[in-house]
Amino acid sequence: MWTTCQECQGRGKKSRRLSKKVRLNYQMAFDQFEKTKGNGTAPVRPKANLYKCLNCNGSGLMNSSSYPEPDKENYPHVAIIGAGIGGAALAAACLHRGIPFTLYERDNNFAARSQGYGLTLQQASKAIEGLGIFSLKDGVVSTRHLVHTTEGKVVGEWGNRKWIQSDAKTTAKRTNVHIARQSLRLELLEQLGGHDVVQWGHQLVDFKNCEDESIELNFQVNGEIKKTKADLVVGADGIRSSVRKLLIGDDITPLRYLGCIVILGICPLSMLEGINNSLLDSATVFQTANGNERIYIMPYTSYSVMWQLSFPMPEDEAKFLSTQGPLALKEEACRRTQWHDPIPQILTATLEAQISGYPVYDRQLLNSQLLEKGNSSTLIGDAAHPMSPFKGQGANQALLDALSLARAISKGCKPLSQWRKTGIRKSVLTEFESEMLERSAAKVKDSADAAQFLHSEIVLHKGDEPRGRCLKKKEQ
Ligand SMILES: Cc1cc2nc3c(=O)[nH]c(=O)nc-3n(C[C@H](O)[C@H](O)[C@H](O)COP(=O)(O)OP(=O)(O)OC[C@H]3O[C@@H](n4cnc5c(N)ncnc54)[C@H](O)[C@@H]3O)c2cc1C
Repeated sequence: MWTTCQECQGRGKKSRRLSKKVRLNYQMAFDQFEKTKGNGTAPVRPKANLYKCLNCNGSGLMNSSSYPEPDKENYPHVAIIGAGIGGAALAAACLHRGIPFTLYERDNNFAARSQGYGLTLQQASKAIEGLGIFSLKDGVVSTRHLVHTTEGKVVGEWGNRKWIQSDAKTTAKRTNVHIARQSLRLELLEQLGGHDVVQWGHQLVDFKNCEDESIELNFQVNGEIKKTKADLVVGADGIRSSVRKLLIGDDITPLRYLGCIVILGICPLSMLEGINNSLLDSATVFQTANGNERIYIMPYTSYSVMWQLSFPMPEDEAKFLSTQGPLALKEEACRRTQWHDPIPQILTATLEAQISGYPVYDRQLLNSQLLEKGNSSTLIGDAAHPMSPFKGQGANQALLDALSLARAISKGCKPLSQWRKTGIRKSVLTEFESEMLERSAAKVKDSADAAQFLHSEIVLHKGDEPRGRCLKKKEQ
């Protein structure tokens, strides 16, 4: 069990006092500005340097024999809508900080819908320590990433193995951990002490601000409407978020079709016995493309791989194909990928029950003004900034949002903060949202760009670097 580190107040970082010289320079610039009576530009106050808190080794958490009691007196009660990746992470981060919360999920139980795909944790492979997860039980680390032509010729290779072998100066900055989405979700829910903490079967239908500054929420539960109250509503309810719809309307930033479909499958390595191929060593990620279709194959667990085939298609055709079911999706995928080994073998061996397919969407970026409409409500994860899966960033950003929001509540609503008087928007949400929107904007854009260039000749550009990086260099 975990509680926050008292030395850094759960931030994982501490501020170093600014040097006397920096303080004096700022003061001089400010005095100068005041003399101009508001003409000219005000100097920006220098920010304190942050360094890792050694007491908790940067996680912001300390081992404890019990969780802190929810501090109902001082903190707002948070209603978290959606127990997916972002919602479960926010609940865990609130629990560690003594922030009272209720976690609502429309599904009736953990496994109600097939959610079979794998995630790659990049920045978040470190950030999850801040959520109390120091090693992922089912996580698989990849050390090599290869790009092939359809004949199997390698046109790009990177990852720890490459750097170590070639003794190159470049070292990988972080580890990519692959994990089934449901395994990560389970680990987050286990932080809460198990599934029972989730209010399953609660579909949010409406909420409204009350005169006493609280919020009244209406849920559909077993065909009936159930009312509850909270001080803060957080929409962690995914790309088709109801909270977003109620807050800013669906017509302002509607779903934006990115011009392609993805077909996904999971194949146990046991179905590929007899195929001796180093690409199936449970530590290699590889992709193969022809300028139109592109397949990406990664370890899903130590005993299986996940494949993701994508290609351009008009929206109505993509919608139609995705409703045709796994057999049609499999046939389409096999027809388009009669390429080098072991791709045809993997696709053929994948059971239909393990195949799904979706048209790919995102939404136009949100801005602070749109979110400001929610006095005491906000959004995180896909509800705030949905993006295509091609940069593998959606879950990473949802986890970072969750931690950042819990830290902001803990700081902005601490005892004596008077947040009830100032309002939760001013005390917490404005600053949190501006950090979230700035951090995720580049990821949304890069993920949308990837939906284009991965299905073009650019994907076959020779170079030992992630695809699309050559475009970034040209931009600079
Ligand atoms: C094929 C594919 C591959 C991907 N690969 C990666 C990857 O490698 N790396 C990565 O970082 N990301 C990846 N992503 C993206 C990632 O899965 C999402 O960005 C992430 O799950 C978003 O988390 P979330 O909590 O915002 O939403 P979700 O995880 O979608 O959770 C939303 C939850 O809200 C619930 N809900 C919805 N409406 C309501 C309501 N009205 N009331 C109550 N509950 C409600 C839903 O049932 C659901 O449980 C991938 C996505 C796909 C489709």
